Amino acid sequence: MLLDTLNRSLRDLRISVTDRCNFRCVYCMPKEVFGGDFQFLEREQLLTFEEITRLARVFVTLGAEKIRLTGGEPLVRRNLERLIAMLSSIPGVDLTLTTNGSLLAQQAQALKDAGLQRVTVSLDSLDDAAFKAMNDVDFPVAKVLAGIAAAAAVGLAPIKINMVVKRGMNEHSIVPMARHFKGTGHILRFIEYMDVGHTNGWRLDDVVSAAEIISLLDAELPLEPVAPNYRGEVANLWRYSDGSGEIGVIASVTQAFCRDCTPARLSPEGSLYTCLFGLSGFDLRARVRDGASDEELARAIGRVWQVRGDRYSEIRSAATVHLTKVEISHIGG
Ligand code: SAM
Ligand code: SF4
Ligand code: SF4
Repeated sequence: MLLDTLNRSLRDLRISVTDRCNFRCVYCMPKEVFGGDFQFLEREQLLTFEEITRLARVFVTLGAEKIRLTGGEPLVRRNLERLIAMLSSIPGVDLTLTTNGSLLAQQAQALKDAGLQRVTVSLDSLDDAAFKAMNDVDFPVAKVLAGIAAAAAVGLAPIKINMVVKRGMNEHSIVPMARHFKGTGHILRFIEYMDVGHTNGWRLDDVVSAAEIISLLDAELPLEPVAPNYRGEVANLWRYSDGSGEIGVIASVTQAFCRDCTPARLSPEGSLYTCLFGLSGFDLRARVRDGASDEELARAIGRVWQVRGDRYSEIRSAATVHLTKVEISHIGG
């Protein structure tokens, strides 16, 4: 049974393996909210690796072809390579992971050996001061660059680099980031700052639009548009006119793509979200722990997917911005 609602087949599964993170990015987990006494999930609330793998197999029978591990920071979940080995044994699945890169240098080889295919690494600036201000960490960018180098060395490639752009914090890093990654084979993707969750104090004025990003870049490093590789590709692709590679821009604020949105999202405690801006999830962990069969789980997921009417980015307004949406640090990007 493959799931397809208004052209929105279930094609991807994003699995958030933890709500914890060793960064406190201002746009995602501001320290004022996610500080010392924030209540993260307890270990027994998390899905076990066996539960995650079982659910992933069910999602694959429903059409999921790509699985992306995310979080929080996935590399802080203990023994993650064991989960990767379990997931990589599911036939026909493309398995990737999004990370802040700080723990990648020491884990890259084990992740690759376990069957991970590629990584996306988030990096918002090459400038230590901007990096520290934006990501609230006390180590230099060099640590993330070492993680990227280690991932490339073990073949977790092509690597995508995600850069969230927030006005007043890192627009000055757009061109240097492009120059740094141009010609390396890594694909830099600029991401418009989104009003995910309800704790980051998002304001439209802080968004640097895709159009502005492209025009800044094009003035220094001439670009040409590239046709999407497949329907539903989230990034608008551009290539350097001198043939030295591609970049992407994810314009979920200024150019909504809800019509083509294919990912299902599984939270660390086993709730299914059909939209990054969801207000609540569907509790799959309860079904799993109550003894539901695979067929019952598939039917439950199918019912949720078939009635999804998500189009948050298309209807974003002053009234929707302040809703108590799930945090992106809880369900991943
Ligand atoms: N911790 C990992 C990381 O940072 O790569 C994985 C989880 S993080 C929530 C996934 C992606 O969401 C990252 O690329 C991050 O930059 C992006 N992200 C987080 N908050 C965002 C926001 N408010 N707007 C746009 N992208 C955001
Ligand atoms: Fe952590 Fe990633 Fe969120 Fe930054 S974006 S706080 S690294 S989960
Ligand atoms: Fe998909 Fe929701 Fe984003 Fe629209 S707002 S693209 S439905 S995640």
